[in-house]
Amino acid sequence: MGEGPCVAVPLYLQPRLEPPLASLLDDPLFLHSLVDALGSPLNVLLPDRIAENAERFRSVYRKHHLTGRVFFAHKANRSSAFVRRLAATDPAEVGVDVASLGELQHALGAGFTPGRVMATGPKTPEFLWLAARAGAAVNVDSSAELGQLADLVRKYALPRVEVLLRLSEFVSADAGTGVKVLSRSSRFGSPAGEVSALLDTVERHRDAVELIGFAYHLDTTGLAEKALALERCVMVMDECHAMGFAPRVIDIGGGFGVGYVADAGQWERYTTELTNAVLGTRPALTWQGHGYGLRNEGGTLRGALGLYPAHRPSAGPGYLDELLSLPAPSLGRPLGTLLLEHLYELYTEPGRALVDQCGLTLARVLDVRPAGAGTGSGGHLVRLGLNAGDVSLEEHGVLVDPVLLPRTEGGDEGEGPVGVHLVGNLCLEGDLITRRTVFLPRLPRIGDLLAFANTAGYAMDFHAHSAQRQPVARTVAVLRDGGSWRWCLDEEYWPITTPGGPVS
Ligand SMILES: *Cc1c(COP(=O)(O)O)cnc(C)c1O
Repeated sequence: MGEGPCVAVPLYLQPRLEPPLASLLDDPLFLHSLVDALGSPLNVLLPDRIAENAERFRSVYRKHHLTGRVFFAHKANRSSAFVRRLAATDPAEVGVDVASLGELQHALGAGFTPGRVMATGPKTPEFLWLAARAGAAVNVDSSAELGQLADLVRKYALPRVEVLLRLSEFVSADAGTGVKVLSRSSRFGSPAGEVSALLDTVERHRDAVELIGFAYHLDTTGLAEKALALERCVMVMDECHAMGFAPRVIDIGGGFGVGYVADAGQWERYTTELTNAVLGTRPALTWQGHGYGLRNEGGTLRGALGLYPAHRPSAGPGYLDELLSLPAPSLGRPLGTLLLEHLYELYTEPGRALVDQCGLTLARVLDVRPAGAGTGSGGHLVRLGLNAGDVSLEEHGVLVDPVLLPRTEGGDEGEGPVGVHLVGNLCLEGDLITRRTVFLPRLPRIGDLLAFANTAGYAMDFHAHSAQRQPVARTVAVLRDGGSWRWCLDEEYWPITTPGGPVS
């Protein structure tokens, strides 16, 4: 290698790869042919896997004998293939959560009947009108929004709308012990303590809205916070029944998480060494000593590591199972049992977890050169045909290695692991794909591909832009067909079999 520090012990963060994503990566010839035809960057989706993930969530419902629906939080990915594929699953079990007028139109156009659609997020009058006109349920954020929706219903003689009241800021009911667990504050939802005012508003608008339940979405991995919120919703529902309302649904939102890194040991080693690097007891592991939230103040470690917990012992459906098995904080019985006893329906809105293992982002290696002094720990700069907006893992604090897909076989005799910096295609000093040194099994060559696995949740198109007129990634859907792969553009995908079409 010559340049840069030697890489005695590469600190890998190898991705968790399950079928069919793993077998897709085993076919570099196919992936190279796609990028040759469609350019770099390129997003590749596996729509059958999203249906399988929905089924895994459903099996947790069955295990706990619960009814209700799994709603895909559309915002995690713009793709048509995912939404169309899910539209073709059991209508009673799988729905879609839309957070904009565009997503609502997209879901209806993909084949979701309005009864399977839940409108959440910040809403415009047009979004509310279309949801009400079509007959989708509305997850209401505040008394004011409820009033606005009711006014629209009356003014335009729309059918009565099913609504859920979204709550936030849950306080522990266990006031006797003085222990108060406060869930994080949120821009969305109404404080749980203000439920009675909300119910007054529902009462006033009974002609226009029908209260079907309560909802929350906590952007955390903390189980205790979620257990508290779920129990509080059960209690609020009970109070509602006493008041003559008949809500039947508890919607626990998303946030079930994804395990990105396969190996717990790699993750622990990496974060330990990152801490050591910040303290200066080992060479840097990042561009210009970036600390991901940690800093060294006179030899003392300060701050907090602002990273997604990339190795997760339980995530997705497993996390839901754990939550439902947990005892309710003050009522004691498992939360799943509590729901079952009350015959309440469970709604979930997984985004990231539902697109787990559902796709990857490909980038061509455009240039490889020795890194200048003082840049960091990577011996080389590897310039890619994409930018940080095209693969926004870093934006979400997700650290995981890309997979090197060589253009040609062999020719790597004598080469070993290397530490590199991945830089993007923008004319900006700061366009780094990740600020950490990435360890690869060998130095990439121009024309090789790097595959960023498991990017379908927020990392694929959420932050993509067309700055500098660099190409926005095309998106294709791929399906296994016997021993090979078939593909089509995302917008051409429909979940039916057509002669010569993509779906087998
Ligand atoms: C973003 C969002 C979700 C999905 O969250 P994930 O962490 O991707 O599972 C679900 N519900 C609401 C209301 C959201 O805003």
